[in-house]
Amino acid sequence: MFSMQKPKQDTIYYLNDDLNLNGLTEQEAQKRFLKFGPNVLEGSKKITPFEIFLDQFKDFIVMVLLAATLFSALMGEVADALTITIIVILNAILGFIQEYRTEQSLEALKKLAAPTTKVIRNGVQKEISVERVVMDDIIILEAGDRIPADAIIIESHNLEVDESILTGESIPVHKESARVKGRGIKGKQNLIYMGTVVINGRCKAVVKDTGMETEMGKIAGMIKNIDNNETPLQKRLDKLGKILVTGSLIICAAVTILGIIRGESIYYMFLSGVSLAVAAIPEGLPAVVTVSLAIGVQRMLKRNAIIRKLPAVETLGCVNIICTDKTGTLTENKMTVKKIYADNKEIEVKGRGFRGLFSLQDKNINPLNSPVLKRLLEIGAVCNNADVRFKKIKVRREMIDEIECIGDPTEAAILIASIKGGILPKDLSKHITRIEEIPFNSDRKRMSVIVEEGGTNFVFTKGAPDVILDICTMIYMNDKEVPLTSFDKKRILDINAKFGENALRVLAFAYRKIPKGSRSNPESVERDLVFVGLEGMMDPPRREVYDAVLKCKMAGIKPVMITGDHKITASAIAKELNILGKGDSILSGAEMDHMDEKALENICENTTVYARVTPKHKLRIVKALKKRGYTVAMTGDGVNDAPAIKEADIGISMGKEGTDVAKEASSMILTDDNFASIVAAIEEGRMIYDNIRKFIRYLLSCNIGEVITMFLAVLTSLELPLIPIQILMVNLVTDGLPALALGLDPPDKDIMEMKPRGAHESVFSRGLGIRIGIVGFLMALCTLGAYIFSLNYDNLYKARTIAFATLVMIELIHAFECRSERHLIFEIGLFSNIYLVIACLVSFFIFVSTIYVPALSAIFKTTVLTGFDWLVIIFFSSIEFVFNNLYTAFILPSKKVE
Ligand code: ATP
Repeated sequence: MFSMQKPKQDTIYYLNDDLNLNGLTEQEAQKRFLKFGPNVLEGSKKITPFEIFLDQFKDFIVMVLLAATLFSALMGEVADALTITIIVILNAILGFIQEYRTEQSLEALKKLAAPTTKVIRNGVQKEISVERVVMDDIIILEAGDRIPADAIIIESHNLEVDESILTGESIPVHKESARVKGRGIKGKQNLIYMGTVVINGRCKAVVKDTGMETEMGKIAGMIKNIDNNETPLQKRLDKLGKILVTGSLIICAAVTILGIIRGESIYYMFLSGVSLAVAAIPEGLPAVVTVSLAIGVQRMLKRNAIIRKLPAVETLGCVNIICTDKTGTLTENKMTVKKIYADNKEIEVKGRGFRGLFSLQDKNINPLNSPVLKRLLEIGAVCNNADVRFKKIKVRREMIDEIECIGDPTEAAILIASIKGGILPKDLSKHITRIEEIPFNSDRKRMSVIVEEGGTNFVFTKGAPDVILDICTMIYMNDKEVPLTSFDKKRILDINAKFGENALRVLAFAYRKIPKGSRSNPESVERDLVFVGLEGMMDPPRREVYDAVLKCKMAGIKPVMITGDHKITASAIAKELNILGKGDSILSGAEMDHMDEKALENICENTTVYARVTPKHKLRIVKALKKRGYTVAMTGDGVNDAPAIKEADIGISMGKEGTDVAKEASSMILTDDNFASIVAAIEEGRMIYDNIRKFIRYLLSCNIGEVITMFLAVLTSLELPLIPIQILMVNLVTDGLPALALGLDPPDKDIMEMKPRGAHESVFSRGLGIRIGIVGFLMALCTLGAYIFSLNYDNLYKARTIAFATLVMIELIHAFECRSERHLIFEIGLFSNIYLVIACLVSFFIFVSTIYVPALSAIFKTTVLTGFDWLVIIFFSSIEFVFNNLYTAFILPSKKVE
């Protein structure tokens, strides 16, 4: 891939103070991309369209048929041979179209699931596809990111990397910046490698090598692609296919032998047997299943869900519990600080976003007059990695200041609250310098920075109030640091609860003077802190979630909220969204810690909210629910969520906020991080499965009908009702287009009012297998009925044409019946699947031309039908129709959720 040698930079270059921290320019990056190629490892060979086409003929039975055709051509039956060949080619074209489309959709999916990374170009941070990373790009990485190329670290905060993929060693490796004054390059400690994962901390690094030149490239091909494994259904269908092939071959052989015994010519019976085998074997089934899955995946994409693993499409229909994160998935993740508690006062913060100020009824709350409030806002602004940019936007012909937040929404809200209080980051940076950071993660639930202010070092900490209070010994009140009493603690916790009841997420702020030169070891600095105050922020529920929760409940799916937030906040939001109802309970992470697995399994049935949990708890929750027999969907975004996501039946990660590690562990990615999209995907999943059942029902009942027609005829010593090319024609006009169109069928309207399908349910369950058998048998009886009836009033040619027409008609009508297992065709509307209408019309037209176009009629050995003949055909083909509708209307049990 890399034909050219890249000019290697001297290592010193990366340590140089002049290293351009604005990164490359876009033009330079583009130039390098074109010159050195994409940052990818060499991939596997793609299958070409021609190979797909050739594959269609590799089937053993098709080869036998072609051989038999050649034989018949040699015997002088040139027209017959030609027609059979054309039919085989038409079949192959249909198969090719299906498979080619599948390949294309899967290819498109791979692109969608392609990883991205953050780089600085032209001084601006942006997200680009990993493929486009070039040498000397400055990349920004944080916990959960997969490292896109080999790079030298130029800035790091508590960086730990999992290099097991390269070294096999699973212990995290501590890494440091190569630019720490006086330390210099320390070899591997300053280098990060493509494919390894940041599991803690943050860093900036300059890319040294890309693509095949990376360490990973050298040890060759680990390629992370979408998983195209066969789905469980496909595997089961493969097995079924084998049984069907064997069964059909036996019956076809029996038909051939019986015919020969009866005195038919060997050649004729052999051709009949092989044609019947071609018709009977549902060779299109695997392709149609894959096409349906692939089309479904495209549809899910439109509804904001990217499927990474094809089997997930199937499993989605079985999901009966969705464990979802709260922040960003159920809520908008647009935080606004509403309340502040400092210096023993509650302060209201007005307005959404940047607009609005502190309410000013009380003069003392002006930050300039209250050193405690000022300190709180300063900690908020400094112990913060968010950034805000001001830009002018036009609103009704007026230019107004709009604020754009970059970074974590919780931090952005805190920063904005500080700015509202007049604490501006650019002023702060003049007298407070950040030295080190101990990053936030969901396990610690807090974050600290070490700063220097007026020659003294401080640690500024913010985090969950219960966590922060545990490490505070003092409180800052009336401009004095005084010991924190249990009375103070209770008051603070009461205020915290009060904020929580109003659905506010609450953070506490604290600080401490520390000796200079203290290392950023969390245990040694985050202790004996001075408590300063609380901020409570609002994160409104997403509007569409109300409906989605309702839909879930109607569909027999239980939504469960899992959050790092406090129990009270979680409960307020869960009640508002109707997730927490009567009889449901809430469990906290701390309570879970005191439970063994058995106890958790017992309680998880009725628990719909888990609060203050860490990713470890999530894993236990999934396991407990699975033990209870649930099919669990679980969302996650952080690096530590990966085990729970992997364990879940459907692991879901967040496209916007999710880390690479979470995405790679998941089987589905939500592009909008929205709970409603999970429900939409489940709906699609149910629909796809239903559609697969529809055409399995269709294909198998038709094939059974065709085989039994012939079998019964030879058993009862009748002349064969269909000649070989008629059989092939029936197969082409019914198996081809109508079956494909069924895969595109819109769902039953009540699809989300049905109970979820059982995870181990067979595709023939709920009476489908029996129904297929009965209908196949009925088709044969009706065809034979029409045949025998017409033999009594006309010659063999006419009777065969009538049998041929009856079978085609029954099958085309049956395609419409297969659209729903629970509803009559009149209920769902004859024209509601326009593709099927067109497919059946095209098939009907092809079939009719074999009767009315003289040239074709000669080849297909048909005769022109009279009005009476048509009446016979309509009568016999409607028997099956009447039976089917009576069965649907009276016998089928409902599976609706009570
Ligand atoms: P959810 O699980 O509902 O999606 P979440 O993932 O945002 O929520 P966490 O990120 O684990 O939950 O946050 C848990 C708690 O940690 C929050 O309630 C808050 O008190 C605290 N917290 C959140 N973000 C920060 C941050 N950037 N710095 C310090 N503390 C934070």
